[in-house]
Amino acid sequence: MKKIIVANWKLNPSTIAKAIDLARKIDHGAKKMRGIEIVIAPPFPYVRDIGKILRRAHLGAQNVFGKNEGAFTGEVSAPMLVSCGARYVIIGHSERRIYARETNAEINAKVKRAASSGLFAVLCIGERDRTKENFLRFVKQQLLGGLKGIQKRHAKKIFIAYEPVWAIGTGKPVRPDDLREMAIYIRRILFDVFGRKAAHSIPVLYGGSVTSKNSALFLNVDGVSGLLVGGASLDPEEFIGIAKNATKSI
Ligand code: PEP
Repeated sequence: MKKIIVANWKLNPSTIAKAIDLARKIDHGAKKMRGIEIVIAPPFPYVRDIGKILRRAHLGAQNVFGKNEGAFTGEVSAPMLVSCGARYVIIGHSERRIYARETNAEINAKVKRAASSGLFAVLCIGERDRTKENFLRFVKQQLLGGLKGIQKRHAKKIFIAYEPVWAIGTGKPVRPDDLREMAIYIRRILFDVFGRKAAHSIPVLYGGSVTSKNSALFLNVDGVSGLLVGGASLDPEEFIGIAKNATKSI
């Protein structure tokens, strides 16, 4: 499976000029890389302009609304993102689950809209606390909730990003052995949801304190097809270093 590295810029950088500069540097660095997919997910106001300058990297967004039209002030629909050139969208990031109080049902509506509009939906799941006995059940609920009722034919539009909340932005990533177990656990649930054949091709990514120094550890874990990168995606050299490691682990 082709490795995919997704840059989640979150609420950064502060101006369109800085965003274009950063996107250009990443895209330039990505030029010579073969066999991997690089995605940049900027804040909404930058999406279209960044899409215009990308040659090698693909365009993503960080959120989408669960309906396509209507009286929903401030929201952005999947067809809007498609019309602005986006191919990917991150859905259900833990920061949205926590700060915007997104529920599994809302996230499910977003995944459905994204997939049926032709976007690749990167569904984020992950426990807040690994010391809690029920953390596996928690992850399963997020996964089943996010994928409820998704048609089998849309399975090829789904990516799963396992992002334990305690690992995001903390400098404390998951242990590779724990990631391996979680990737197997997620894959089993995907088999139950979509059947073996359709689920087999759904990429499982890891996100949480990934850097160019530690990324190879996660990229070499069986069943892990790529990374979702937050903080390190704002530093072009660092991000390109992570992407280079992905080319080595193909
Ligand atoms: C993220 O927010 O998706 C993320 C993985 O952040 P960081 O890489 O900074 O931990």
